[in-house]
Amino acid sequence: MNKDYYKILDVEKSATHTDVKKAFRKLAQKYHPDRKTGNEAKFKEVSEAYSVIGNEQKRKEYDSYGKTFGGGQQQGGGFDFSGFQQGGFGGGIDIEDILRGFGGGFGQQQQQVRKGRDISMDIEVSFKDSIFGTQKKVLIAKVSKCSECDGSGGKKGTSMSTCAACNGQGKVHQTQNSFFGAFQTVVECIECVATGKVPKEKCKDCRGAGVRKQEEEITVTIPAGINAGEMIRMGGLGEAVKNGTPGDLYIKVHVTPHELFKRSGVNLVVEVPLKLTDALSGTVYNLTTLEGKRLEVKISPLKKTEETLRVKGYGVPQGSARGDIYLKLSVSLPQKLSSKAKDLVSQLKEHGL
Ligand SMILES: [Zn+2]
Ligand SMILES: [Zn+2]
Repeated sequence: MNKDYYKILDVEKSATHTDVKKAFRKLAQKYHPDRKTGNEAKFKEVSEAYSVIGNEQKRKEYDSYGKTFGGGQQQGGGFDFSGFQQGGFGGGIDIEDILRGFGGGFGQQQQQVRKGRDISMDIEVSFKDSIFGTQKKVLIAKVSKCSECDGSGGKKGTSMSTCAACNGQGKVHQTQNSFFGAFQTVVECIECVATGKVPKEKCKDCRGAGVRKQEEEITVTIPAGINAGEMIRMGGLGEAVKNGTPGDLYIKVHVTPHELFKRSGVNLVVEVPLKLTDALSGTVYNLTTLEGKRLEVKISPLKKTEETLRVKGYGVPQGSARGDIYLKLSVSLPQKLSSKAKDLVSQLKEHGL
């Protein structure tokens, strides 16, 4: 089912936008149904390919996923050429005009799914919460479904009447100038949001919009083990639109650094500077894990100035397993020696240390 749009446009995957535009222009002229070399099916195919590859955002999506997500040409399929047969190819061809045409008259009345805008917000969690996960309640001010009229835009109990702007058709005709000359397009009626009906009396809270900016409390589930900078997507919690589906909410997670632990993948790392004597004779290190458990970790005399000691478990949860804690042991040299200590060092010297 997936078409190779690059192949259709006869360009390399690495082609620049200008190259893509040129290739499309060449093929569009060749296949345009008004031409001798015309081929409607090919023309549609080329146009469809260009509507994706010629659009930076859609091209990215296509490159990554092999498809695009925006509304539009995916479900449209058939293009109606009857509207602009008389146009022909004028001098200054503006390819952008073709694209503008895609939304309306170019495709047959494409049932574009109305979708609200995606929104994003930032959230800060403690280091511990990022490791074990948590739930956070946040207040967010966004355009959402009007709670007074439940999105209908009408005053409670009011009846609906036929929209005067579109005569109840839900759409209105517009004349558009394009690449192929002027043609009629059909666009959604703004008054009734394509429903063909308007409430007799508008809702006072949203003035008939069906949506309004309001504060909403939402609960965000922070999954265990989330990394700083990761995004959580909450489908349908973006901005609402009347007669459509809401956008999505993206939450960027920031993590407050911990005073003791640092994260390294599924493991936690603790820097442990040891006194010279502890490094030489070994010691016991009192470790309090992130969940508050106290452990006595035996440290053997160091063989090198820096060693790593693993404390199994107690790291980042991974399903039923856990990462580990790594103690990064190092020798902290004394900054000052008392005269007594200096004497002792000379004695050590005699022992070849
Ligand atoms: Zn309302
Ligand atoms: Zn209308």
